[in-house]
Amino acid sequence: MSAPLPLLASGAPESAAPLPPKPGILDVPVDTLRAWLQERGQPPMRVGQIRRQVLAGRATTFEAMSDLPKQLRAELAESFRLFSMRVERHLVARDDTHKLVLRLADDRMIEAVLIQDDGRATACISTQVGCGMGCVFCASGLNGVVRNLTTGELLEQLVVLRNLTDPETTNPERAPRLTNVVVMGMGEPLANLENLLDALGTAGDKNGLCIGARHVTISTVGLPAKIRKLAESGKQYSLAVSLHAPNDELRTRIVPTNDKTGMDAILAAADEFYEKTGRQVTYEYVVLGGLNDQAPHARQLAGLLARRKAHVNLIPWNDVEGLPYRRPQDADLQYLIDTLRKAGISVKVRKRKGAEIDAACGQLRRKVESGQPA
Ligand code: SAH
Repeated sequence: MSAPLPLLASGAPESAAPLPPKPGILDVPVDTLRAWLQERGQPPMRVGQIRRQVLAGRATTFEAMSDLPKQLRAELAESFRLFSMRVERHLVARDDTHKLVLRLADDRMIEAVLIQDDGRATACISTQVGCGMGCVFCASGLNGVVRNLTTGELLEQLVVLRNLTDPETTNPERAPRLTNVVVMGMGEPLANLENLLDALGTAGDKNGLCIGARHVTISTVGLPAKIRKLAESGKQYSLAVSLHAPNDELRTRIVPTNDKTGMDAILAAADEFYEKTGRQVTYEYVVLGGLNDQAPHARQLAGLLARRKAHVNLIPWNDVEGLPYRRPQDADLQYLIDTLRKAGISVKVRKRKGAEIDAACGQLRRKVESGQPA
């Protein structure tokens, strides 16, 4: 005997349409949640209880929120999801770097990474699905931008990564909670500034994730008006500007949006950011072998940054399959470092973390989306 057909497949009219997905609880505005609770005779303080349970308490189901009445927990589960995204792929490297590909409610995918060393646990989060900036060496922008992430989706990445830390760790190299955030995943953070500031505000709250602004770094391709807006937020976030070249001609070849902006406007906005916030700006420089790492580039870069109180973060290019670039040769990288240091600029070379799990720059998502094994 064949199994009975499921009800929805039997041609039922409207009722067959899929239900709209339940919203993730962190995407429900506080006022809306308060009103929803009031309709059920619940006091406003429940809002704080629910959010605290997710953000600080590591609850992964509504059922586990033992400070809420049982009936309310069931009603919450009927109307909302605790996480709107789910883990599609979870890789752990030998150095304890965790890389997640997260599937969003609309089936889009993003990446988020947890980096652990020196007693710190750093979350690297995405701000958009894809990226519209089109930097020629980067995997995230190869297919353009699809959409901004919501405030809840930004926060969920932090919560999911935090839940991977061990609150009981005694290992001095590890942290029992998230200590830092770098907004350096997929997307251009300043193109989604409003949601980002909203999410980081909650992350910084003592009832949230307790991550102070000084432990948050926002990396941008360089959108001058948005850099000013960030400075006006009054928060002590660190700013990292992706420079990648010492002159406009080369920068426009590497970072096509430079054509519209120009480096002068970006550097001026970054200088203002420093004056207003007192926070020293970091310049990121992806080192592309033979392209932006030769002696004249080194000297020009040193000249550009010497009179600024700036850090430089050199990032040897992480290979992206199919792209025609290469990592720098040791001698070229060393010359770049020495030239900048001689000019009084503080320089760091970005350590390679989780290399064997593609823990960089939108590469794992591409593999998962195209069905390749990771
Ligand atoms: N849109 C933001 C955040 C991007 S990711 C920005 O442009 O800053 C953070 C840094 O990683 C940027 O400096 C970016 O240029 C760099 N990056 C991207 N792909 C890379 C790759 N394959 N190798 C090394 N660095 C890369």
